[in-house]
Amino acid sequence: MTLDLPSINDELAAWDRDCLLHPTTHTANHARGDVPGRIITGGSGVYVEDRDGNRFLDAFGALYCVNAGYGRREIADAMSEQAHKLAFFHAFAGHGNEPAIRLAKMIMDRAPDHMARVYFGLSGSDANETNVKLAWHYNILRGKPEKRKIISRWRAYHGSGLVSGSLTGLKAYHARFHLPLPGFLHTDTPHYLRREDASQTPEQFTDHLIARLVALIEAEGPETIAAFIGEPIMGTGGIVPPPPGYWEKVQAVLDRYDILLIADEVVTGFGRTGSMFGSIHYGLKPDFMTIAKGLTSAYAPLSGSIISQRVFDVLMKGSDDFGALAHGWTYSAHPVSCAAGVATLQLVDDLGLVGNAASTGPYLNASLKAALADHPNVAEVRGEGLMAAVEFMADPAARTWFDPPMSVSLKISAAMMRRGVIARAMPEGDIIGFAPPLCITPAEVDTVVQAIRDAVHEVLGSGV
Ligand code: PLP
Repeated sequence: MTLDLPSINDELAAWDRDCLLHPTTHTANHARGDVPGRIITGGSGVYVEDRDGNRFLDAFGALYCVNAGYGRREIADAMSEQAHKLAFFHAFAGHGNEPAIRLAKMIMDRAPDHMARVYFGLSGSDANETNVKLAWHYNILRGKPEKRKIISRWRAYHGSGLVSGSLTGLKAYHARFHLPLPGFLHTDTPHYLRREDASQTPEQFTDHLIARLVALIEAEGPETIAAFIGEPIMGTGGIVPPPPGYWEKVQAVLDRYDILLIADEVVTGFGRTGSMFGSIHYGLKPDFMTIAKGLTSAYAPLSGSIISQRVFDVLMKGSDDFGALAHGWTYSAHPVSCAAGVATLQLVDDLGLVGNAASTGPYLNASLKAALADHPNVAEVRGEGLMAAVEFMADPAARTWFDPPMSVSLKISAAMMRRGVIARAMPEGDIIGFAPPLCITPAEVDTVVQAIRDAVHEVLGSGV
């Protein structure tokens, strides 16, 4: 089966080219119509369809966010009922609404025990902004205003705002934007495949990363570092599970230097790893957890900053000393979004989605390995739960990458699309990523694996 490029070129397509500036899109190609935009019109389960009548198995859950799958009436109905009852009232000055309070309770029931409160935002980017601001506030209230730098990692993705874009460690998000802002530092990428010293074992590589982190902290001065931020499994940087012992050792360093940990769970939250949170999966004890995406399965914009008891205690004292917390978005705790969140988390439980990620995830990984690990251009098949990636290199043994990056992966993802399967070519490398809705079945996994196997053979033959 092969599917064609979008064929309908009507008023709607013209308005799209003439009026809409799309995120993360080649601006000129889109505006000129060189690459026609695909207009998605519907979806059900793991499938979406476009207005040309093509149907695709979405093996990336849109942007690893439609975790419960498309077309869930339970979520749509909950939003509709809430919009009819009370579409909006703000949460400032202690005002509440029922879905926000219920959702906060559901989140805190699922979060690690030492977490104390959740603040609601609208996107992963703004939740990371909140986390950095609260980390600064925490240290100012503790009489340590100079303790304010944030350490992130190269290849991390934490959003594309001013602060969140500074936290992000992908070059394209910095270049030509005056980012990162001062005080945002990056340490090494925890990806064994990308190690500089090919002779290192995975354990030696972890120790090397830890030594480099300690050296950075010592060089900057621990009294100037507020927090370390990391995705439990690196996502957009290539879907990279941590090397052995990494998080345990990072956590010990942070404890030693009184540095807060922000666990960015925007992708890993609510089941993707096969555990409710990546922090639970890897035994982290964060001070902040960033949540978004799976919180509402992207049926409505909603994010959250979950804060630890020790941070909350300082905030309590701060308001007794200085008055109300001067931080808030108009749409914080939006009732319609929170109603979507309540219905989503209920579905996660009712459909057993965390358990499905724990069982179908390894099947996806094993099937990808069986189909592709022997191909001479496949450097690595990796993943955890329902996150997986296949990385391609010109010559894995000689450790040479394709040049320029993405020259192969974009062709493979396009060839998969023609076979009716959506996967994502990840930036700064030749990496095809998978993060399907958590309701995917083994039979649907087989369709995905068949598509990438055929696409790889179309693009690379039996090896280049
Ligand atoms: N953090 C992580 C780990 C992400 O993957 C993303 C988005 O993909 C973000 C933050 C930013 O979230 P948003 O796009 O909702 O601002």
